[in-house]
Amino acid sequence: MKTASPAQSSLFDSAPALFLDRFEELRMELSDQQLIAEAIETNHAGVRKDRTLDRYRDHLVHYSQYLGSVFGVGFYTARRKHVRMFMNHLAKPGGPKPHESRLQCAWCKTRGYPDGRSGPGWSPSYRKSYLAAIKFLYLHFLAEEDLPDLNPAALEQSPKVPIKLGYTPSSEDVKKLLECPGTPKGRLLAHWLFYAPSRRQTFSDARWRDIDFEQATWRVMGKGDKFDIFDLAPPLSRALRLYRQWQLLEAQRNEAIRDALADPETAYVLLTRNGRKTPPQTISKMAKWHAVKAGVGVRKSEGTNDTVGGLTSRVSPHAYRRAWATIALNEKELPIDVVSEVLKHSDIATTRRHYAPTKSERARAALVGMRLT
Ligand SMILES: [Zn+2]
Repeated sequence: MKTASPAQSSLFDSAPALFLDRFEELRMELSDQQLIAEAIETNHAGVRKDRTLDRYRDHLVHYSQYLGSVFGVGFYTARRKHVRMFMNHLAKPGGPKPHESRLQCAWCKTRGYPDGRSGPGWSPSYRKSYLAAIKFLYLHFLAEEDLPDLNPAALEQSPKVPIKLGYTPSSEDVKKLLECPGTPKGRLLAHWLFYAPSRRQTFSDARWRDIDFEQATWRVMGKGDKFDIFDLAPPLSRALRLYRQWQLLEAQRNEAIRDALADPETAYVLLTRNGRKTPPQTISKMAKWHAVKAGVGVRKSEGTNDTVGGLTSRVSPHAYRRAWATIALNEKELPIDVVSEVLKHSDIATTRRHYAPTKSERARAALVGMRLT
């Protein structure tokens, strides 16, 4: 007769259905620490960055210690309310006089009740990261067949992270940028970045063969064989022609530029002195130098790379994009689907959120102005 053995191996030899309960009990013996290690190791969510995984590990250690010290539960036994309360406690102040809900948390206690950088409490974006870590953990539960299908975080809503609009030059600022003489390249860039609000890389990639002065178009190569056509506004066509004349003069005294221009493959619109294509980072710097000269968005420089006499500017290629979108929507009152198309957004919501939130005055004017004809 076969005798029962407490050894784990004998469990697997027997009919699985009979021993399912026992089997789950065995898995219960995995500690939260082990579960964190296992979840990070297997990475069912396919998180790519190691830095993100490290952060998730820290978040989950906090979550585990909170559950244990405040409620005496663990990952297996946590309920929705525990997740909710954990998320709430993150938003509460720490520091010398911590909020009640922080006091009992062992993790917070051993660290002297830290706050987020902008305290009191951790910021919405940091709390969002915490929730992502908890969902990452319970995805591991769902993905592993020997762990129970638990997800007490399923109904937990992600904290709303307020969108901070990046620096956006006004139409007055844009006028200054366009009128500032600067250098030939700086002057061209100001026109180009504003009148063809594309992405930074596309300016770096542009060759003269992509520009059709007859049709007044710029063909922008995208991924694969796809391309987009930007129509050239008359001020941009003029700026490109003037710049072209200057570049041809330069080519007469600079052999590298002359050689680059001789071959359509290497005839970039923005060539360096060595006849190479100008990298995107340099385009950002040139945009800043030009803006400093124009006196737009100027601030003291902290870095060493992009300074002109210790000054830099908040103007960037993207700032021109935002300016174009904001002026188009709020001053020219162009429909948002048109603006979205110009910016090549796949979704109109992106246009609205990131570039040009509809001004409330426009909404009021729309209500007041409604007439039936
Ligand atoms: Zn805590």
